[in-house]
Amino acid sequence: MAVLIGAIADDFTGASDLANTLAGEGMRVVQVIGVPDDDTDIGDAEVVIIALKSRTAPIKEAVDQSLAALVWLKMHGVEQIIFKYCSTFDSTDKGNIGPVADALRVAAGADFSLVCPAFPENGRTIYQGHLFVFDQLLENSTMRDHPLTPMQQSNLVQMMDAQSQGKSGLINYQTVQAGAASIQQRIKELQSQGCVYGVIDAITVEELRAIGAAISDHKLVTGGSGIATGLPQNFRAEGLLGAHQAAPVPDIRGRSLVLVGSCSTATRGQIDAVSDIWPSRKIDVDGLAAGDDVVGELCAWALQQNAAHPVLIYASADPQEVAAIQQKHGTERSGELVEQALGNLAVQLRNGGFNRLISAGGETSGAIVSALNVKALRICQEIAPGVPWTQALGSQEIALALKSGNFGAPTFFQDAFEMLP
Ligand code: ADP
Repeated sequence: MAVLIGAIADDFTGASDLANTLAGEGMRVVQVIGVPDDDTDIGDAEVVIIALKSRTAPIKEAVDQSLAALVWLKMHGVEQIIFKYCSTFDSTDKGNIGPVADALRVAAGADFSLVCPAFPENGRTIYQGHLFVFDQLLENSTMRDHPLTPMQQSNLVQMMDAQSQGKSGLINYQTVQAGAASIQQRIKELQSQGCVYGVIDAITVEELRAIGAAISDHKLVTGGSGIATGLPQNFRAEGLLGAHQAAPVPDIRGRSLVLVGSCSTATRGQIDAVSDIWPSRKIDVDGLAAGDDVVGELCAWALQQNAAHPVLIYASADPQEVAAIQQKHGTERSGELVEQALGNLAVQLRNGGFNRLISAGGETSGAIVSALNVKALRICQEIAPGVPWTQALGSQEIALALKSGNFGAPTFFQDAFEMLP
């Protein structure tokens, strides 16, 4: 069967989030890392999501990467393209959302595209064109002080107008509430006013479904993962997609490993929940900086542990300890040392039979996937909101759960392994 939906995501965990949404709607989803080669194995995917690192890249690089991803998706005959960005619209006055949307819209031959970062499950809603994070306008949320993309406005029409060449208009809540036909009517009206983008209000998942029904013929859709919710049903209605399929569990037997680089409160709680019951070791960052063979020693230790339990290796520390390490070795260098060590551990321990791996941390997961040379992942069953089990496609037999720092309940690590055969 052909690939029905192709998505271009501006970062790695954002791609996983979208992958999880579409798998939850019963589609077979594969996530690929970077623009795929011709020989990248995508199995029997109905959705291919290309994870880029374009959110804060220079504009030209972001546009070029996104267009290359579009060429690959078009070659695979996709029916509809999603440009996925963050549900907090992470960008600056210059981009990259506007310029990438402009380039994709033209190259995809789309007359009009929606702009909808809403993700109600995570408190991101849009009302009268204004983006909210739970009960706060975006400009009053913690995103206000983000180091790379400080969000100091909340009006999406204004933000799109500042970033893009094409004009934007609003499809307001009252129109959305009136259903798919009224949304389509409003889109025609905006087009007659010269708009090529429609910022659309959405507060609930039901509204996202109505929006999905209104845009079955849109070649390009832009938004957060929520905007994908209503799209699979259009393909089902046309007979192009079978009944809702439950996402599988990776069928991988072997030893289980948790590698942690995230220092978030949620992740440290997850470590506390297992560190007394599973073999656990903390990475000595000073030793890494001094050039000691910390990785070799940890590998030898892990391989000696009883295979009945997962093994946990973490770098995580509380904010004071992290600050002290960063002061001693530099912020960037300490991050790099830890990421490199975790990547090496993943490779050496996979070679030693650990082929069921949880990686905790966004940057950490990027480093581990790249060290393992994993190019594509089949999205399997969800462990916690936003975090699915995945299985590497290609020659490696490995199950991977890539958790962004703040996600998951305190029992996440136990819950995840309990799902596996
Ligand atoms: P999150 O998803 O929680 O933001 P990330 O993996 O993206 O997690 O980021 C955590 C960063 O902190 C990584 O670059 C990691 O290498 C670094 N790190 C982890 N432990 C330590 C430590 N003890 N000292 C300094 N940096 C650390």
